[in-house]
Amino acid sequence: MKNNCVICGKDHLDKDTIGINKKILGEDIENFYCLDCLAEYLGCTVDELLDKIEEFKEEGCKLFV
Ligand SMILES: [Zn+2]
Repeated sequence: MKNNCVICGKDHLDKDTIGINKKILGEDIENFYCLDCLAEYLGCTVDELLDKIEEFKEEGCKLFV
């Protein structure tokens, strides 16, 4: 699976980043964003995304296991 950021090309996106991409954009997406680019795309901040990741983990979301 290719997991470079589709915008800036940052590679080795970690599984939390992949997880939040899937959670927000859909599990079938093939292009991933790094947290910086995802925040920009969504019009939010990286901190907000990190909060979301923690929330999903607490919910036991399988995408973050
Ligand atoms: Zn990026």
